[in-house]
Amino acid sequence: MEQIETTRTAGLRLNRLYKSFGGLAVLKDINLDIESGEFVVFVGPSGCGKSTLLRLIAGLEEVTARDVFIGSKDVTERDPSERGIAMVFQTYALYPHMSVAENMGFGLKAAKRSKQEVERKVRAAAEVLQLSQYLDRRPSQLSGGQRQRVAIGRAIVRDPEVFLFDEPLSNLDAELRVEMRIEIARLHRELGNTMIYVTHDQTEAMTLADKIVVLRNGEIEQVGPPALLYDDPDNTFVAGFIGSPK
Ligand code: ADP
Ligand code: MG
Repeated sequence: MEQIETTRTAGLRLNRLYKSFGGLAVLKDINLDIESGEFVVFVGPSGCGKSTLLRLIAGLEEVTARDVFIGSKDVTERDPSERGIAMVFQTYALYPHMSVAENMGFGLKAAKRSKQEVERKVRAAAEVLQLSQYLDRRPSQLSGGQRQRVAIGRAIVRDPEVFLFDEPLSNLDAELRVEMRIEIARLHRELGNTMIYVTHDQTEAMTLADKIVVLRNGEIEQVGPPALLYDDPDNTFVAGFIGSPK
């Protein structure tokens, strides 16, 4: 089947999600609606369940109970490859012996897409990410920021409805983090996809998010636009993450 070339995007509904590992409840009754095209940022202390929640949306982790909807489809039982999502991780291992173009196209090639389609999609993603002149280089010949762009390119070529980012910038130095944050904001404006983004960085949360979700101990503590959480946090815990104490 031919892929649609225009961007696909979909909203998400998390309906009473629970997740436990053995006896340990890690996510408890997560209910959340995310609109198509929205940029949603999850923040919360280490161990509160942020990565587990993303992995669960991606299908890399099975839910203990209830549903994950992407658009109108219940994807709870679907394979990661059938969910219309792509995930970008903090550690984004690139294949050192492959060129930038090969790294970006690898997943599509493995999925038996035609050579022409792979090349077309890689070129388009490279254009968006300002990597066109680096397509023949090896990862070792790129800067850290460019490497992270290649990792994002791998996600873009898959044409996902929803992008998931798990602390994608936390391995970069401060200057690069700022540069890549601006880059990700631009990508969101250009692509218009739904993006779900986990970070420890308050500036990233405040500047990128349409909506911030504060997680605490596997539960949603508060949800709202950055300005609302900043000006009117429900409690000192939220204030501690987002800004001004109450
Ligand atoms: P965060 O990303 O917010 O730091 P995680 O989602 O990685 O938190 O982890 C939440 C909790 O779930 C932690 O207590 C962690 O130890 C536990 N956990 C995560 N993955 C597993 C696993 N595969 N098996 C057992 N416990 C896990
Ligand atoms: Mg994590």
